Amino acid sequence: MKLAIDLHSHSGYAGGVGQIELSDVSKTMKLKGIDVFGTGDCLLPRRTKELHSLLNESAEGLYSLPGDSKNFLLQTEVIFSTKLADYKNKTIAHHVILFPDFSAIEKMQKLMDKWKMKNTIGRPFVVSNSQTELQDQLFEIAAIDPLIEIIPAHVVTPEGIFGSKNNLQQIAEFYGDFLSNIRIIETGLSADPKMLQQIPELAELTMISNSDCHSAAINRIGREFTVIDSKALSYPAIISSLRENKIAFTAEFNPQEGRFYHTGHRANRAGHEDCVIFVDEIPKDLICPICGKKMNLGVSERCQQLTDDKIIPTERKYMHLIPLVEVVAASLGIKNPASKSVLKSFGQVMKLFPSEIALWQDTKLAEKLAGSIDEKLIANILAVQNDNFSFEPAGFDGNYGVLKIK
Ligand SMILES: [Zn+2]
Ligand SMILES: [Zn+2]
Repeated sequence: MKLAIDLHSHSGYAGGVGQIELSDVSKTMKLKGIDVFGTGDCLLPRRTKELHSLLNESAEGLYSLPGDSKNFLLQTEVIFSTKLADYKNKTIAHHVILFPDFSAIEKMQKLMDKWKMKNTIGRPFVVSNSQTELQDQLFEIAAIDPLIEIIPAHVVTPEGIFGSKNNLQQIAEFYGDFLSNIRIIETGLSADPKMLQQIPELAELTMISNSDCHSAAINRIGREFTVIDSKALSYPAIISSLRENKIAFTAEFNPQEGRFYHTGHRANRAGHEDCVIFVDEIPKDLICPICGKKMNLGVSERCQQLTDDKIIPTERKYMHLIPLVEVVAASLGIKNPASKSVLKSFGQVMKLFPSEIALWQDTKLAEKLAGSIDEKLIANILAVQNDNFSFEPAGFDGNYGVLKIK
């Protein structure tokens, strides 16, 4: 069976977002067509208690609200950090961790107590004194249950394992012997499989996409997602299909949209009248020729640095998408995708399809849309389905790329 999964989110406890109700999440999952959603923040004791009291086990290792059809999977993000011998700064890397049941969470919480790690925020830290200690701790987590999965999150963003802040040459420097337990990576909003598939240590791994959202909104949940071929609707079946790379396709942001896609400095910085974007010839020292300050290496250039041209890429199916509600907003020329007229138009489109994911996969999209909605909106939806959109200029130095639907 095909399952649409989105396994990285955050709850209201992640800070600054207010309470997010699981019932609202479930409503959005139905609109989007997401079958299984990561709960977010499941290690935080308050959150664990809340999830335990609200959810019932609906299938092995999956949980639902009473009387509701949508499934949740127990998930958190954890930041691992340690000082590696050859690096001046600490290496810090975000990871998604998936748990098969509440007892595995409880055991992980006991480990964190034993390590004297604070567990008071949605996305906790595990700080290790050395690479060997980190490696031992990762093995201890994995030993709790063979179905626990530790997944490097948004691998090439500044907070990802391969990000420009860490500047690692190889992720083995961080994981050591634990590297063989890293089977899956998350591409993140700023990269797609094409950018990662020729990086030596990543080339053979499963690549998944998740929304990493902090909201139940229709343009957040499932803004990136993964469709897998799974033997059953259960936690063990999902984990084995991920470990065996049974990915039907991933839905990705167009990486050019990301705020740090290219290396450069924007025009409104101190000492700047013009902006500079480097695509081909980046100064080796990353010093900006206009203001003399150091630039952050863009994600695109970071990937190029790591890429080995000799690697023959594994075939990976993926599509670039924009959330439908944002396509509607762009077509109407309205900035706020939550405005009434946008939602009205969105509702009209959604009447024709069981879910948004079904719409994007529909091979007769043009026929089904014809005559029911505005022509310009139809043209834009079809353009997005056919990947006829780009971001020009692409994102750089904190500016998002500017959407252009052809
Ligand atoms: Zn993160
Ligand atoms: Zn500058």
